[in-house]
This record gives sequence, structure tokens and C-alpha cells, in this order.
Amino acid sequence: MSDVGNAPGASPGISPSNSAGQVTAIRRLLRRLRGIMAGSASAQERLDRIVRVIAAEMVAEVCSAYVMRAGEVLELFATEGLRPEAVHRTRLRVGEGLVGQIAATARPLALAEAQAHPDFAYRPETGEEVYHSLMGVPILRGDRVLGVLIVQNRTPRHYTEDEIEVLQTIAMIVAELAASGELVNPLEMAQSRGGASLPVRLDGLRLNPGLAIGPALLHEPKIVIRQVVAEDAIAEEERLRDAVAAMQEAIDALVDASRGLGPGEHRDIIETYRMFAADRGWLRRITEAVRSGLTAEAAVQKVRDETRSRMLQISEPYLRERLFDLEDLANRLQQYLAGQAPGIAAADGPAEFILVAHSMGPAELLDYASRRIRGLVLEEGSPTAHVAIVARAFDIPVVGRVAEAVERIDNGDTVIVDGDHGQVMIRPSGDIEQGVAATIAARSKRRAYYDTLRDTPAVTRDGVAVRLLLNAGLLLDLTQLPVTGAEGVGLFRTEIPLLTRHAFPDVADQTEFYSRAYEQADSRPIVFRTLDIGGDKVLPYLAHAAEENPAMGWRAIRIGLDRPAMLRQQLRALLRAAGGRDLYVKFPMIAEIAEFEQARALLDKEVARLAAEGREPPRSVRVGVMLEVPSLLWQLPALLQRVDFLSIGTNDLAQFLFACDRGNPRLADRYDLLSAPMLALFRQVIAACNAAGKPLSMCGEMAASPIEAMVLIALGFRTLSLAATAIGPVKAMTRSLDAGALAHYLDELGERPDHSLRRWLEAYALDHAIAV
Ligand code: PEP
Ligand code: MG
Repeated sequence: MSDVGNAPGASPGISPSNSAGQVTAIRRLLRRLRGIMAGSASAQERLDRIVRVIAAEMVAEVCSAYVMRAGEVLELFATEGLRPEAVHRTRLRVGEGLVGQIAATARPLALAEAQAHPDFAYRPETGEEVYHSLMGVPILRGDRVLGVLIVQNRTPRHYTEDEIEVLQTIAMIVAELAASGELVNPLEMAQSRGGASLPVRLDGLRLNPGLAIGPALLHEPKIVIRQVVAEDAIAEEERLRDAVAAMQEAIDALVDASRGLGPGEHRDIIETYRMFAADRGWLRRITEAVRSGLTAEAAVQKVRDETRSRMLQISEPYLRERLFDLEDLANRLQQYLAGQAPGIAAADGPAEFILVAHSMGPAELLDYASRRIRGLVLEEGSPTAHVAIVARAFDIPVVGRVAEAVERIDNGDTVIVDGDHGQVMIRPSGDIEQGVAATIAARSKRRAYYDTLRDTPAVTRDGVAVRLLLNAGLLLDLTQLPVTGAEGVGLFRTEIPLLTRHAFPDVADQTEFYSRAYEQADSRPIVFRTLDIGGDKVLPYLAHAAEENPAMGWRAIRIGLDRPAMLRQQLRALLRAAGGRDLYVKFPMIAEIAEFEQARALLDKEVARLAAEGREPPRSVRVGVMLEVPSLLWQLPALLQRVDFLSIGTNDLAQFLFACDRGNPRLADRYDLLSAPMLALFRQVIAACNAAGKPLSMCGEMAASPIEAMVLIALGFRTLSLAATAIGPVKAMTRSLDAGALAHYLDELGERPDHSLRRWLEAYALDHAIAV
């Protein structure tokens, strides 16, 4: 009992009434806990002592530690204050009771009247009915919850933010014990997850397509924090300062090096990242944790764990992604503290590998760029995450949101990354490995064949010429123009580069960006679409209230017309960049002619302004509309009189036509675009455009699928805009197609009321040797 010290109330303790001596009290408590951890007692004995010390120092009648066991069960492992016979008997499932809630949400909880809470679960064996107040924190290691630490008080009281902080700090020490494997045999957890070395398939999110196989390399060298409590807080703060300085210096060097990579968004990304590395709030929180007595490593870990659990609460995608950058920085800082420069793990790894990480920032991926990353597996990530954007530029297949990837994959395991289907296979059987290797070989052969088509025209066997254009959003995408042989850019999604920035660019910045796009396109035409923000593309620096149905909400041209200054600035920048060249611009999500006319009027004002400023005007200005909202179908003749061209965006058009959320995976196969209503719609639009003599193009994803592109060409489309990877396959299909013959067949198929016409069309392609 020697380490228990004073009885509750006798010590100054850590309490709301005592915040002046708080830091000293925390340091004393941490010192005592360190003494216990360093002792030779068994893990159970150490835990018993720890809960006693916490209860005494935090002036609480109860302190209990629950530890996670196999099957997501939290078991009471030690208690001061509850009945001893409840130890190892009281068990709660994750999500059950207040303890289970803390584990499920990985968030602290503090209640003055715990029993009044709807989640309170009464356990008679504990005798806890007399305690009114409860404060609990998760015992975290990385993003895994290893248990829950609770204090309780008999009289109702409010716990302060500071007290919650203190308990979180203590929980880090308990986490060391829980993670040591001395309390619960690690085998128990491994077995509950299903045999550690058997082949496993994990599902995730498609972040970049492609297939890859190779040995795994775990990105974060697992940093083991050997010491949680510092010997000397002042020396520790100095260590932290040195490591931060070294890290910032290295990031500055990375910014300089990224200039050498040529223009592109990765530079903006790295600049933003540098800004995060100097984020005062983040550095201050780490420094405060060091001042409270933690080692620098433990302080970084603490702030990082808190960031992670906050991340779980945030649904706004852009903000979540910025937190990944902070996480990436925490990893780097840990490595500097450990005396390793980042990237060292890769230095002695295999020459080519599949990189596996919890989350990753763009800078870290660039660290590896000189080496061969065949594929990337992330536990986090989203399509607009910085790391995904950079990976796309390097054509690395990526699967994100793969739960427990780091846990389940060991260095050297054979891993298959299937970016097309969002799947990861770990330790595949020999058969599967061979099958995948054969597919990869066949794909690279096919790619080599598509390369040979690069300079050949996309003309059908019966002489119909088709223009194949590129869909782009980043300057990096434009490097694909000469690679694929695309004739130009049919859709430049101008909002995409904004997603990687921290502030809205001014006119000069935008002008520079569009000028760079023109330069890279090297006199090929570019159709710029004005900003389509809103929906799933929310910018953090633009106030945007949460919406019930963001896809049908305040987005695209609706924002542009309500915030005309923003749209005018974009149009001004486009006009300036287009001086002496052809400018093609189209407006997204137009639902009525009046909207087009308003947008067009803003453009006209900017054209007049350009002339008044004496700047060089574009050689020509052509203005079009995206057909994404079905209401336009009943306004076509009048609309077509006013526009220079029309572009169909099937991604949105189909979602509104079938009332089917384009982002909902459960609905992905619900309706088929190769069906009577869609084909009838296309026929109507083609006829209207032909009658009005206005060019029509298709830039939705539909154009990227060879069998769908086959039908579009037979119906009468002559311009398709698609992702770079689809250009080769669609060109190969076009060159094997007799468009006239298929048009007859489509007439024969008529307006079958079937769910889909796909199987007839597949059979047709097979019979006529069309390369779909
Ligand atoms: C579309 O809706 O088909 C389209 C091309 O626009 P986005 O995918 O950018 O919404
Ligand atoms: Mg759209």
C-alpha cells in the first residue's frame, strides 16, 4: 500500500479547486505511476496499484480499469472502491453501458448523474449504485481501444476539462500495460480476429484503380514508446523543440525539391502541409503535454490519439483530410524524436513493395516516390485526400478504408491491391497469386497495345470519326494528353484543384493556373467547366450549411449565381488566360434557360471588362451547358438556340433521372444506363442538337466504358470525353466497330421494357468481334 499515499481528501490532489498547483500535482502523480510501472510486480499487481493511486490523487472514491478481451468484451480488471469480487467477473460488451459507450466512441465521458444517463447499465455485483458521478476515458493505443479507465464519486459533481485531460494522460500509461501483452495474452486477440497467417480478404474503398502484387512494407515503423513519463521536463521540451526544428527544415527542403517536379497541385499540397507543420495550436498542445510531465514521444502520441478520436467525430470530408495531414506530421515528429529521418524504413525494405499505412500524408508518399511503390493500402483515406491525389499522379493503385490493415499485415507478407474493386488480399494462395500475376502481365501487354494506337485516329470500320477527349481536374492530368493521344480536354473540372488549397485563390492565382493549363495542353482545346462546388465537394473556407440532400442542394451554378463575384472572378481569370486562344467554357447543373442567360450575362460583362482594360481577348469564346438536370430535356430547342454546344454529364443526369444517389454503393447496380429510357433520352438530345446544328459531347463516366461508348457512337455521339486510362480501350473498340450496323441492331432492339439491354449488346459485340 506504500504507493497509495494519502487517503482521499488528505492530499492536495487534482481537483477543480486546485488548478494553480495542477501541473505539480500531475507531475507528482506521473512520477508515482512511473515508479509502479518500473517495479518488478506482476502486471495485475501493477494495475491494482495504479487504480489505487489514481483514486487517491484524483480525489475519487472509485477508480476502475476495464481491459478489452477477445470478442469486443470489456472486463473489469482492477478497481479501487467497487466490490473486489466483481474483478474479472463484470463484463460489458463494447457499446453496452457507459463503459461500453466510451469504448465504442473512443471519446471521454463525464457525468454528474451517471445513473440518469440512458446508457447506464446496472451491475449489482459491483455495488456502484451509491456513486453518482462518473468520468471515463478510453485507453488508446493508436486508433485501437484497449480498455476504459473510470473514476467515480459518491456525491454529484462536475468534472472539469482539465481533469479529463489528466485522466487521458494517465490512460496512456495504462495503455502501455495493456499493450504489453501481460494482462491479456496477445494470442487471444489474434485468434479472435481469425488465424493470423491464413489468407485474408479485406474490403475497402477504391481510391485509384489498378492491380498490383508484391511484398508488404509497413509505412510507420512501429515506434515503441519506451518511456511515458519524463525525467526532466525542461530537457524534454528542448528535445521536442529540436525535433520540430529538424522536421520543419526537412519539409522546407521537400517544398524546394517539389519545385523541381514541375508545375502541379502537388506543390500546393506540400505548401499547405508546410503550413500545418507550423500550426501553433498543434505544437502548443504537444508542448503542454510535455510540460505536464510526459516524454516528448508520449506527448506527440497523446495529441495524435486525441486527433484521431476527434477525426471519428468529423463528417466534413475536407476537414477530416486535413487531420490526416496532422497525423502524418505526428508520425514524422516521432521519427525525428527517435533519431530516424523519415523514409529510413523503406531504405532497407524490398526494392518494390506494397505500402501499408494507417493514414498517410502527401509528403510521406513523395518521400517514397523515387522507389517503386506498386500499390498502397490505407486504413483511412477518401478520393479527395491529398495522398490519393498524389498517388493518382504516379498511377499507383490505392485501396482505402481497409479496417485493421496495419494490424493484419506484416512486413514481407504477399499482398494484392485490387484498386478496381476496392479489395486487398493478404497472403493469397499460390493459385490466386499466379492468376493475379497473369492478369497484371496481360494488362501491361494490353497497355502496350493501346500505346501503339496513340497516334492512330479513332475511326470506326465504316468510316465514322470520333473525337476522344480527356477528362481532367489537375494539371497533372494534362500530362496524359500526349501519352494517350487525346485530342484535347472535354471536361476540365475546375473545382478539383481548389480542394487541395487552404484559401480561395484570387484572380491572379487563377489566371496563372489556367495559363499553365493552356501551356500544358500545347494548343489542344480545353473545355473549362466553371466551379461545381457543393454536393460532395465542400471547400472549408466557404461557409456552407449542412444540407439534407447536398447533390440536389446549393451547388455548382446555383452558388455561382448567388455569389456572382466568385463566378465573375473565375470567368475573368479564364478570359485573361485565354488571351489569343480559343476559350471554351461550360456551366454545370443548369436547370433552366434563365440560369444560363444569367451566367452568360456575367461572362459578357467580363468580356467587356477585358476589352476596357485593353487586354488581349481570346481568339474565340464558345459557351456551353452541361446537361445534368432532366428539366432541360423539355427546353432543348430554345436552349440550343442560345448555347454554342451541349455536353451530357451522365453521372448527375442518371442520378436525377432514376432518383438514384450516385454515391450510394448499394444502388450502384440498381439501374442500367444501357436501358430503354436512357437510350430514348439520348436519341431525343441527338436529334435536337442535329436540328439546331449544335455540337454535342458526352463527358460522364459512361463514355469511359467500351461497351457503353459503343452504343453512344452508334446512336450518333461524335465526341466523347473520358478518363485517361479509358482512352486506349475506347479507341480500340471504336476501330473494331461498324457503327451503321449496330445502329440498325439498336433499332431492332426497339424499346424493350427490360431492366437492361446489356446482355444483347454484349452478345452482339462478341458476334461482331468488337473489342469491348
Ligand atoms: C457528370 O455529372 O456526369 C459530370 C461529368 O460531372 P461530375 O462528375 O463532375 O459531377
Ligand atoms: Mg456532374
